[in-house]
Amino acid sequence: MTNKTPLEEKLIAEITDDGPISVEKFMNRCLGDPLHGYYMGKDPFGRGGDFITAPEISQMFGEAIGVWLATAWQMMGSPKKVNLIELGPGRGTLMADMLRAANVLPEFAEAIEVHMVDMSPALRKIQGETLKGVPVDVHWHQRFEQVPAGPCLLVANEFFDALAMRQIVRADDGWHERMVGLDEAGELCLMLADKLVANAQVPHWAKDAEVGAIAEISPQRQAVAELIGSHIAKHGGAGLIIDYGHALSFAGDTFQAVYRHKFVDVLHRPGQSDLTSHVDFQELAQGFEEGGAVVHGPRTQQAFLIAMGLREREAVLKKKAPARARIMLSRQADRLVSDKQMGHLFKVIAVTDVSLGTPHPFGSPAND
Ligand code: SAH
Repeated sequence: MTNKTPLEEKLIAEITDDGPISVEKFMNRCLGDPLHGYYMGKDPFGRGGDFITAPEISQMFGEAIGVWLATAWQMMGSPKKVNLIELGPGRGTLMADMLRAANVLPEFAEAIEVHMVDMSPALRKIQGETLKGVPVDVHWHQRFEQVPAGPCLLVANEFFDALAMRQIVRADDGWHERMVGLDEAGELCLMLADKLVANAQVPHWAKDAEVGAIAEISPQRQAVAELIGSHIAKHGGAGLIIDYGHALSFAGDTFQAVYRHKFVDVLHRPGQSDLTSHVDFQELAQGFEEGGAVVHGPRTQQAFLIAMGLREREAVLKKKAPARARIMLSRQADRLVSDKQMGHLFKVIAVTDVSLGTPHPFGSPAND
């Protein structure tokens, strides 16, 4: 018998008693179990962790977003007070970089009150350390619903991919929920529920899929998007959502696990591997729109960052840097925007209230 994680033992015992659980429930447990969930105890980022995100690659990412926020604030009519909300702020690096960039417009910097939304006690603590000494008020919430009323700017980088999704699989007789059960040896395995998924739950774009096809749907992501959409519609403002995923819905399996910077089987070391799936931006946009907001984009991360002046910022930083650091800066910028790295897989959408208009660069022709 291999050595099992504590959560794996717990899940095997539960499945033995109560039967298989859905992929959605498995993801929720692996990421958010109060005792053993992936995000609950540790710092998953950086070299010693499992993966690296854009803000951890370079300050240029957060600075570009900070400039975007300053422009959106002006489009809002420069309110004296604005709630700057970040969902899933990780180590707080992105917020620190955005706040520094906000100083390009001192009245904007002065208007900001920060609201960090994160379910992880361990990461909230790290965020507090990162933001020690910033010249604005910072508040923490576990859920978006706890953020107070008022005009807002919102940022979510690699947040939605971490919310659970359902997988349904096309068989000869119709669609079945994909489950996690036990094989003959008593180990976790993927399987299908016997029961058919109700017709109304099969998305229209999957209706003609072939036998064996997998469709991913995320009522959780859509529900959060709807809440944000209605908050922005009611209080005014704008949000920027950045994540890896696809502009249009399609059938396919994007469920993935990463452990120590390597892709592993999705059932590998439950609670210790990072589980995500690609974000379906078409589905997400519907959520925001159902809440009453307007969605702009998606643009690729490449098109967005270049339009926001990433290359110019790179040149400025290089001027002040020694030779070795200049090479690093080129590598970091390339990693953020090149086709083969994050440039195309990552998409950006803006969500605004109806009166705001189209923020730059979502109005320019999208040939990306
Ligand atoms: N935005 C950061 C971190 C991305 S990782 C970056 O770019 O580096 C995902 C983040 O979302 C973590 O901070 C995690 O604790 C948080 N998170 C995941 N699921 C959440 C949920 N359901 N509610 C609130 N926060 C969540």
